[in-house]
Amino acid sequence: MKLESPTGGNVVDVPRRRVVLRGEEVSYRLIRARRRSIGMEVHLEGLTVRAPRWVTLRDVEAALVERAAWILRSLAAWRARRRDVMPREWKSNAPIAYRGDTLSLALYPSRSASIAADLFHLVVRHPCAHVEHEVAKSVIEWLRAQATALVAPRVLHYVERIGVHAPAVRLSNARSEWGSCNANGDIRLNWRLVQLPPALAEYVVAHEVAHIVELNHSKRFWSLVETLLPGHAALRRELDDWTALLAS
Ligand SMILES: [Zn+2]
Repeated sequence: MKLESPTGGNVVDVPRRRVVLRGEEVSYRLIRARRRSIGMEVHLEGLTVRAPRWVTLRDVEAALVERAAWILRSLAAWRARRRDVMPREWKSNAPIAYRGDTLSLALYPSRSASIAADLFHLVVRHPCAHVEHEVAKSVIEWLRAQATALVAPRVLHYVERIGVHAPAVRLSNARSEWGSCNANGDIRLNWRLVQLPPALAEYVVAHEVAHIVELNHSKRFWSLVETLLPGHAALRRELDDWTALLAS
């Protein structure tokens, strides 16, 4: 039940197959790999099966049937972890995640637009408070501005610690990763980081800054992350719970 690192996630392009387990149709991705036995994993993208090339599809399906109870239980657990991170309808009382809390939208008509978070609400004053797409646009703009204000100083903090030049940082709108770093050391961070609990956003920033020095997920990379943010492993695991944010 593990998603790879924030920059991982390469199984999305593999076509899906279907199998019926205990009367329930389950889709899965089959990846042919150099290995001795069939391996299964359930994560955000659903069920992924890795099998040696010589194993027939029939054998793969037999293995899935054998582990049906575990597969169905794991899929149900993942579905239960989905959160209401963005309003389905941009109306008062709709839930929205902000800095790890679930706030309720509170919309008020007003001559000029303003947005502020309190402990329970995201208070949106807007000339078109009843026009959902206008409200959505304003809130997302506001979240992006909050994200910039949040991550820029944290990037500088970590950059200073490792003694490299400050990178170009841009916000991304990716659906599959929280952040990325390229060979030039340019960093992209997802604006939805502002919806995560602060400690998890912090971990993503430290992770991407560490890639400026180590553009890989080697032991050296992880020990650099640990130096920057001691105890990062627990945060990394907790981040899995929030990765549904990106897809929703
Ligand atoms: Zn990474």
